[in-house]
Amino acid sequence: MQKLKFEYRIIAAYILIGGVWIIFSDKVLNYFVKEPDLLTRIQTFKGWIYVLITALLFYYLLKSHLAKIRNAEQRAIDSDRLKTAFLQNISHEIRTPMNSIIGFSELLKDKNTSETERNEYLSLISKSSDQLLNIVNEVLDISLIETGNINLNKKRVHLNKLLDEIYLSFKVLINNNIVFSIEKGLPDQQSLILTDDLKVRQILNNLLNNAIKFTEKGHIRLSYSLVNDDLEFCIEDTGIGIDKQLHEKIFDRFNKVEQDTVRLYEGVGLGLAICKGNVDLLKGRIWIESEPGKGSRFFFTIHYEPVYEDNTLSKNKTKSIKDLNNVTILVAEDDELNFLYIKEILKGTEANILRAINGKEAVEICQTNNLIDILLIDIKMPVMNGYEAIKQIREFRPSLPIIAQTAFALSNEMLKAFNAGSNDYISKPFKKDQLLALISKYLSADNL
Ligand code: ADP
Repeated sequence: MQKLKFEYRIIAAYILIGGVWIIFSDKVLNYFVKEPDLLTRIQTFKGWIYVLITALLFYYLLKSHLAKIRNAEQRAIDSDRLKTAFLQNISHEIRTPMNSIIGFSELLKDKNTSETERNEYLSLISKSSDQLLNIVNEVLDISLIETGNINLNKKRVHLNKLLDEIYLSFKVLINNNIVFSIEKGLPDQQSLILTDDLKVRQILNNLLNNAIKFTEKGHIRLSYSLVNDDLEFCIEDTGIGIDKQLHEKIFDRFNKVEQDTVRLYEGVGLGLAICKGNVDLLKGRIWIESEPGKGSRFFFTIHYEPVYEDNTLSKNKTKSIKDLNNVTILVAEDDELNFLYIKEILKGTEANILRAINGKEAVEICQTNNLIDILLIDIKMPVMNGYEAIKQIREFRPSLPIIAQTAFALSNEMLKAFNAGSNDYISKPFKKDQLLALISKYLSADNL
């Protein structure tokens, strides 16, 4: 039954207590008080007693109700303040890369622009596009986390390899005044664990990006160790640090600490909230130790679930990506430009590329052509969508590697693609290296 509104509840209580009082008060008094004099005196005050009881009750009800309202009001004010700050901030964060994209695109049109300048402008446009995409992804991620629409997708992950990859990708971004190092707390064999690598990667990426952003010189160290049954990660920097009273607050969404009034740091204040959301999902904890001017240490834990590798499995059968001249790749993609982009990426591999322009055609081609080694399939297509096509293809090609690609960077879309039967997933926009790495992952000797 739906809860009655407060005003109806209070009226109902008033009538109920009044009614009960009228009906039973005399009987109760007669039962307990036998002396007629005392009874008469009490009868005189009967009305007052009723007023006192209802006053006390209403005081209690009103107090708890008002506390709730005031709480909600404070939350609304806080959220409004944060939203305003966020909107101002996001508008600045979007305009900055947008300005450079628009500005440099205009400059590219200029006939007098030299080849070197052109290349420089293009790399600036690409950098700004990445920045924009990052904002869109962060906003999307936080809304998914807050609405509880994000799921864990655990699989076998070589933690040490993952750290090596992260080290390589960050090494190039860190300036020479900073010593960047990683420390692995477990030997390689024991670092094979069951976890959601995307989430762990996202947490590490966000924390390292912050460390780089807020550190001018000194060191940045990423380490992990086994503490009881948990893996405890630590990202340490010698940057500007954070005041103790803000240590909890910075994990709230949209919160930015502008300690340094001389310099404005880019960012919409979502990175740490996303980290916290992911750590919560992984049933871990996240916290910080930091002192202004000295640096920060961000810690987080995830549960240690080791996986024992079967050494009889042959290692690294991955074919080199450049050596795909016997490989047939079916690309199911309705959008002309996207198809051209994928074709351009795959051009250097000398693979044989076929195209289907909708899901139905992809199914038909897979039925008639046994030579297809891998299917790259878009999800949103006319006639028959990608999920349906994957399902049908799985019925007659159970071991065909299928990579779903879609513009929805949502984890439930990813889950739907996996449920339909795809082996992997790539969300648009993707980069050349990402797609090639995925394809090479599935074109092992076993699959060919
Ligand atoms: P943003 O995208 O703005 O960096 P985050 O949620 O990642 O958002 O961080 C929130 C705030 O916490 C930052 O604006 C910054 O003030 C502070 N912060 C985060 N990491 C560090 C760090 N390593 N050193 C100093 N301050 C940090």
